[in-house]
Amino acid sequence: MKRRRPIVAIDGPVGAGKSTVARELARELGFTYVNTGAMYRAVALAARSQGIDPAAASATERLEQMLATLRLEVDGPRLMLDGRDVTGELGEPALGDLASRLSTLGVVRARMRELQRAAGANGGVVMEGRDIGTAIFSDAEFKFYLDADPRERAARRARELAANGVKCTVEEALEALLERDRRDRERALAPLRQAADAQAIDSTGLTIEQVVARLSAVVKGR
Ligand code: C5P
Repeated sequence: MKRRRPIVAIDGPVGAGKSTVARELARELGFTYVNTGAMYRAVALAARSQGIDPAAASATERLEQMLATLRLEVDGPRLMLDGRDVTGELGEPALGDLASRLSTLGVVRARMRELQRAAGANGGVVMEGRDIGTAIFSDAEFKFYLDADPRERAARRARELAANGVKCTVEEALEALLERDRRDRERALAPLRQAADAQAIDSTGLTIEQVVARLSAVVKGR
């Protein structure tokens, strides 16, 4: 069955501006915004509260049990974990790191795939992450790969953290970001890469508004 409205997939590394761009673009198009990184972070939050270490031999089994009963609901931009709105708790840097380690595991990715496909099934979504155009909706009508110079990404990341009250130098942000990128690119399952049919956008030196305008022109001009 043909989807009524299109799916816009936006992938890319940490700090490329995906979240802000995707949120703004969704608002402009009147589409739903889905942040899949936040879904992985919510799983990390739940795993941490149960003391699950992704490196432990028991991790897969314990995560399987946890995911079987965990209610993770995507309500537009808000994420509910077992009925509790956890959206405001997901920005913590340690959660991004734990999410990245958990996201290498098949049991976690399989559950996320299910939820993300359900969230986009009717179209009319802007979904951002690492594997949306390559794995989740490889048939998306629009695919973008957003990247920027690592130093600029690190500077943005440091500013973002400062806005959330977390002190971090650009150097520290750069180191953490390169490590997370490496893990996301080198994992065996659905690694971060540009889909062959995705349009690459380098956001270095561009404002959010300029990037949104570019994407929006492509989507509206079809
Ligand atoms: O986007 P964000 O930085 O919040 O994502 C946290 C982590 O979740 C990423 O570093 C990545 O390892 C994982 N992730 C993923 N696939 C996605 C979105 C996020 O593996 N579609």
